Amino acid sequence: MVQQEMLNPFKIVQRQIEIASEKLGLEDEIVEILKHPQRVLTVTFPVKMDDGTTKVFEGYRSQHTDVVGPTKGGIRFHPDVTIDEVRALSMWMTFKCGVVGLPYGGGKGGVVCDPRKLSKSEVERISRGFIEALGDFIGPNRDIPAPDVYTNAQVMGWMVDTYSRLHGDAYTPGVITGKPLILGGSKGRNEATARGCVFVIEEAMKKLERPLKHASVAIQGFGNAGRVAANLLHDLGCKIVAISDSKGAIYNPDGLDLEKVELLKDTASILDYGESYQINPLDLLELDVDILVPAALENQITSQNADRIQATLIAEAANGPTTPEADAILKEKGIVIIPDILANAGGVTVSYFEWVQNMMNYYWTEEEVNAKLKPIMVDSYKQVDRLAEEYQTDLRTAAFMRSILRVTEAMRARGWV
Ligand code: NAD
Repeated sequence: MVQQEMLNPFKIVQRQIEIASEKLGLEDEIVEILKHPQRVLTVTFPVKMDDGTTKVFEGYRSQHTDVVGPTKGGIRFHPDVTIDEVRALSMWMTFKCGVVGLPYGGGKGGVVCDPRKLSKSEVERISRGFIEALGDFIGPNRDIPAPDVYTNAQVMGWMVDTYSRLHGDAYTPGVITGKPLILGGSKGRNEATARGCVFVIEEAMKKLERPLKHASVAIQGFGNAGRVAANLLHDLGCKIVAISDSKGAIYNPDGLDLEKVELLKDTASILDYGESYQINPLDLLELDVDILVPAALENQITSQNADRIQATLIAEAANGPTTPEADAILKEKGIVIIPDILANAGGVTVSYFEWVQNMMNYYWTEEEVNAKLKPIMVDSYKQVDRLAEEYQTDLRTAAFMRSILRVTEAMRARGWV
């Protein structure tokens, strides 16, 4: 029962807020504001299906706080979307934006649907229907969506088109990020999450006085985040020893041939690497490696397996891969975790760059984007690490503290408290 409760993301984020706020000695009234989204909209909208019938879909958009700027965060299409999940994800977005100092609060949206069972034109009509239903709830200076689980650049293209048709008299690229390049997407956005993650891994390894060269790495998930991280770490001289995806996991203590894994991923399955290299995907998390990068799903490191984790450093490219119970166990074991709100903040940072470019209607090269991303990630890591030392706490709590300090300062400056 307790375990179930702590897997509710809304309860988890509220607990994380409490822990960080307690360390900061914040007043109860501020903690109460932080623990709830400012606005949550539930919409239902009819969509014509390919077979001529009409179905009603339900969607949510949560805006946690607009105290430092417009709210920002993805829209997911998934059968398991719940209002609690969307609320929690919008709150994590506030802290993610805060930790890297972006002038945004957190937002998140979701539509209960299963795109794997829908045709492309049905997904298009759901995308357009949701944006119509949201109406003025979103906007370039109000709330700026982006892709999330089972939504992509094409979905953003339909959404920005619908918004632009309904509002004003011109194309409004700044209302949505993660768009196709031709519609005002940013160069470097696809690689940004992994790139940012690798920048902070480099800093953390320096701090641990461990060389990155020849460091062994296990990566759970081989999609946008995991695959690019594998390549970037490999380029820095790391030895990628284990990789998993939804089909299974492969392991070679001497290092995997990354080019071969990529080719297999694109043409068949990573499991074709060879039967003797296959391991139980859950065992990947427990390998004796220098760096573990969870880059797939939430709730992967729990009280059930945390005491068997052997990695020196965990960099959470995924959102929410570690439960609070597991956090406590890992801390006891001395394992350093770069928390998701810092480790994967490179994605939203380059989404912010996309929005800035849209608002200026002036576009940067990929080199410019990457050059702007690095100092933000490195400086944020250093600030969080400094706070962790000052308050004798872990990086997750310190990352929350850094964000909360920022949001709280803005609340006081605006006279909310
Ligand atoms: P993706 O869909 O591109 O890739 C997900 C990968 O996880 C796939 O390779 C899939 O096969 C694998 N996977 C699924 N189930 C698995 C399982 N049980 N075991 C091992 N692997 C499994 O998604 P992504 O964009 O890479 O996102 C991954 C994580 O990173 C998510 O938690 C996401 O929220 C987070 N994230 C992504 C971004 C981004 O910009 N892409 C930004 C911030 C956070």
